[in-house]
Amino acid sequence: MVKNMNIKVLEKDQQTLTFLVEGISIEMANAIRRIILSEIPVMAIDEVIILRNDSPLYDEIVAHRLGLLPLTTDLEAYNLPHECECEGYGCPLCQVSLTCEFTNTTNSPVVIYSRDLKSNDEKIVPVNPNIPIVKIDKNDSIIFEAYAILGTAKDHVKWQAVSNIFYRFLPEVTIDDKKCAKCQTKCEAGKMCPQKLYEFDEKNNPKLIKDYWKACNLCNACKDNCPEEAITVNWKENSYIFSIESDGVLPFDVLLKKTFEIFNEKIAEFETKLMTLQIET
Ligand SMILES: [Zn+2]
Repeated sequence: MVKNMNIKVLEKDQQTLTFLVEGISIEMANAIRRIILSEIPVMAIDEVIILRNDSPLYDEIVAHRLGLLPLTTDLEAYNLPHECECEGYGCPLCQVSLTCEFTNTTNSPVVIYSRDLKSNDEKIVPVNPNIPIVKIDKNDSIIFEAYAILGTAKDHVKWQAVSNIFYRFLPEVTIDDKKCAKCQTKCEAGKMCPQKLYEFDEKNNPKLIKDYWKACNLCNACKDNCPEEAITVNWKENSYIFSIESDGVLPFDVLLKKTFEIFNEKIAEFETKLMTLQIET
């Protein structure tokens, strides 16, 4: 039975977030993973009007490449099209326009990058300005207008809010020093660790390195090779280490807040449906 849920950030940089969640069942951990993977709305280009395309790529390929550009997202300012007053026809509350008009006046081919797109909202722009879109030859042009809307990865992967997310159990490895003292092998077992998570003092007594849990994948190599059975390898119940890799479309705090908002909505919806359910006995 889950009583208190606890979240602790373990590591964070611009692209990756590792956090520990304690006090939830594995089903809940998986629900969090699935919500983050497929239900967080983010911006992506969904419609492209190509007025001129002299590049060697077909219009469809250019449109496909534009669709996959990660765009910075502002969830406060935009509505999902089907929830918007315009009922999805497209208006400034649910749509952003990104245009590109480029003629190659140089004497050599030129690459059009994501930075060449002009957005009508400075908050909705390509995350990375250096993504190549298409190459055009001298004297050639490309002119298009693209429309970005909010969507979720349930409909198309271009709206996926993260590049990757996974969770694993929190490893708990212990070494019984008394049993170790009797051992004649000078801890061959610790040396068997494929992740090199053991260090040894001058008498060859084993010790786990700091933050060994980051790399330990519970392979049991140390435990299985310990003749004195001094090593135990286990995982902490109801504790999971989540790792998220982001392409930068949403800040991590917004992402997690939205995840639990959706989680609560789902539980509320389930409860409402359950209350109205008629079961014949
Ligand atoms: Zn609208």
